[in-house]
Amino acid sequence: MALLMRHAATSSSTRSRCFIPSSSLRATAPLVILLRMPILENIAAIAKGMSITFKEMLQPTVVENYPDGPGPLKGAKFQERFRGVHVLQRDENGLEKCVACFLCAAACPSNCIYIEAAENTAAHRVSGAERYAKVYNIDYNRCIFCGYCVEACPTDAITHGHGFEIATFNASALVYRKEQMLAAAPAHMGANAVFNQDAVSTGAPALPGQGS
Ligand code: SF4
Ligand code: SF4
Repeated sequence: MALLMRHAATSSSTRSRCFIPSSSLRATAPLVILLRMPILENIAAIAKGMSITFKEMLQPTVVENYPDGPGPLKGAKFQERFRGVHVLQRDENGLEKCVACFLCAAACPSNCIYIEAAENTAAHRVSGAERYAKVYNIDYNRCIFCGYCVEACPTDAITHGHGFEIATFNASALVYRKEQMLAAAPAHMGANAVFNQDAVSTGAPALPGQGS
């Protein structure tokens, strides 16, 4: 009995806290039903979208002045993760990182990577492993810049650079050879002072014969 009385008291206090006049409920019920109708939901979504459009119309216009902009990119701007023309990387000794394992070619959905492997010798060492890529071509007529080759590479030899100006009327010019994609040798090896600017800054001679 005591339990029933306590329950009745609790229910009554809850009712008193959440009391909504029945006349209000009757008035808002049609509105709730209307709001649940798909057509009104669609109108609300369009209104929301258009509000963003009008808000953006009042913002200042930002124009990338490519190709007449300043700097080496001629005014173009990239996110760091932009996938451009591939770069075949070298290790800290200047040797090519590619070991001709063919994993990138196997992962490529466009079948646009062509590799010919060759053996390193003591007299002619190109990579740090047993083999190196004697020929490494990417056909940019077919490449979709998906990045699968980059993910498949076990030595981080192939990466995406930011090169993007590859348009041409000559389709055969879009078959890039290894020499076109290979990162320049470190400056202390005497090939390219620009590539290894960081190494130069930390003590490596900029050109052969310079420094210590
Ligand atoms: S980015 Fe994609 S399509 Fe292009 S070479 Fe790599 S795996 Fe192939
Ligand atoms: S780029 Fe990487 S995955 Fe492709 S052959 Fe060279 S080492 Fe192998």
